[in-house]
Amino acid sequence: MPRKRPGRVRTKNTNRREALRLSRMAPEDFNVRPGETKSIACPDCCTWRRIMGDTVLKIREHCISDKVADGEKYASCPGSDQLVVIDIDVRRWQARQDRLLRDAMPQENRRAAQQFHKPLPAPATPVSRIKAEITLETARQSYLAHRKGCTRCVGGQHCTDGGVLARRYVLALQEEPARREAREEQERQERHTARKQTAPAVRKAQWAKHGGKAVETANNRCAGRIPGSLSEFRGPQLPLAPKDVEAYERRQAELGKQYAQRKPATTSAA
Ligand SMILES: [Zn+2]
Ligand SMILES: [Zn+2]
Repeated sequence: MPRKRPGRVRTKNTNRREALRLSRMAPEDFNVRPGETKSIACPDCCTWRRIMGDTVLKIREHCISDKVADGEKYASCPGSDQLVVIDIDVRRWQARQDRLLRDAMPQENRRAAQQFHKPLPAPATPVSRIKAEITLETARQSYLAHRKGCTRCVGGQHCTDGGVLARRYVLALQEEPARREAREEQERQERHTARKQTAPAVRKAQWAKHGGKAVETANNRCAGRIPGSLSEFRGPQLPLAPKDVEAYERRQAELGKQYAQRKPATTSAA
């Protein structure tokens, strides 16, 4: 089943373990950058998983193996629904991560690396939200994962693979502000077009985007209401009286007074 972003904790269940404190984890094993999808390397399956929730944070329910699609049986990872507590100074953690990455860059990339958050001109083609997230996220994770395991990537030194991954990550970081801007612009435009739905060209574009077989199938799947049944908006639970009678009557009287005052003005003007 597709999940909506940003993730919300859907269940109050946890895996009943003690909450996982980020202060006890390696700083490269989680991402809690503000404005980005929170993620963590699950201690049980050593795979990057999303952290869900706003106040109560939990590792998203996940399968212990990634081979379900190949026919393996789904087995929930014991790290699923693990409570996570951010007991670190996020800004300091972020600054340190940025510094580490910058120090790890090859010399020729350092200058570029310092411009981390400078907005670039928006790219010509708008990048979809999900794709951008995956690009930045996967670039960072593969780079950090490589550095963690590679004995030849030390300090400012990189092995060939490490260098490639580092450049990819820096590029993704630099493109991110422009991507975000393009995303926001795209959303603004979509909202705008949604408002002026009457233009035939817009309708045509929308049809081209969402139309065709998918809409037809969805339309045909719409089940009719059972004949003779009432609307779903009616029923005994629908309140018939105002919630606060006194306030309601006060407001009515106020409105009446306002109308009474306005009436002579309109008649004299006419
Ligand atoms: Zn896991
Ligand atoms: Zn390396």
